[in-house]
Amino acid sequence: MSIFDLSGKVALVTGGGSGLGQGMAIGLAEAGADIISVSSSDSNGTVQAVEKLGRKAYQIQADLSQEDQLENVFKKALELAGKVDILINNAGIIRRVPAADHPAKDWHDVINLNLNSVFFLCQLAGKHMIERGSGKIINIASMLTYQGGINVPGYTASKHAVAGITKSFANEWASKGIQINAIAPGYMATDNTSALRADEGRSNDILARIPASRWGTPEDLKGPAVFLASAASDYLNGHVICVDGGWMAR
Ligand code: NAD
Repeated sequence: MSIFDLSGKVALVTGGGSGLGQGMAIGLAEAGADIISVSSSDSNGTVQAVEKLGRKAYQIQADLSQEDQLENVFKKALELAGKVDILINNAGIIRRVPAADHPAKDWHDVINLNLNSVFFLCQLAGKHMIERGSGKIINIASMLTYQGGINVPGYTASKHAVAGITKSFANEWASKGIQINAIAPGYMATDNTSALRADEGRSNDILARIPASRWGTPEDLKGPAVFLASAASDYLNGHVICVDGGWMAR
């Protein structure tokens, strides 16, 4: 369906080299987009998978938790692909230490990547998109945008704030042709949740609450990402869509 067609579009996906970012990058490429993947580590096959689909793929290696690198990353993306139509702020980390002992370093590391990089990349992409009169931004939130979690206070704070800045930017930019929304994934089988899945007790408790009776996969985010990146969502602004197998409905 042409309403979901991303041919001729360029998508910048942070953390596109693995897990959910890789799933979404490949999903957008399947819908026709060229991909710029920004990760701190190697792309782990994303570039090859995108090229195999006949799309262009670029890779930028950068530590997005370093605020002073963000402008260069965006500049480099424009040099490589000429424009950015779609931004997915997906790169994120989690640090699991009980709140009373949660180290300051863990707090700052998580906030720098999960929140500060999202804010500044939204700003950089937004300015470019405002000039062009259109653009799509998708921020990756979490179930911990709504709930407190256990042992992850910095992560929870960052993901609550992702919803806040998504709505805040959406209010200012909806009239400028830019749609900014978020996806809140449920419990997904990636590196981010390997510690949870290795803990049999927690893993069984989590699974018992998921109406779909399974952990999510990176492929589960392809459809929602294409929807939010395409003309199909042109009148959707400032929403957080839960892709969670029913977790929040329970
Ligand atoms: P992941 O660990 O597989 O992927 C994280 C990605 O971020 C990697 O590609 C990594 O290279 C990149 N990254 C990490 N630190 C970086 C840095 N400093 N600079 C640049 N890139 C960096 O985890 P994932 O599960 O795919 O997580 C992706 C996003 O989804 C995160 O924002 C995470 O919080 C969110 N999320 C995950 C789940 C889940 O269950 N897996 C649930 C809700 C939300």
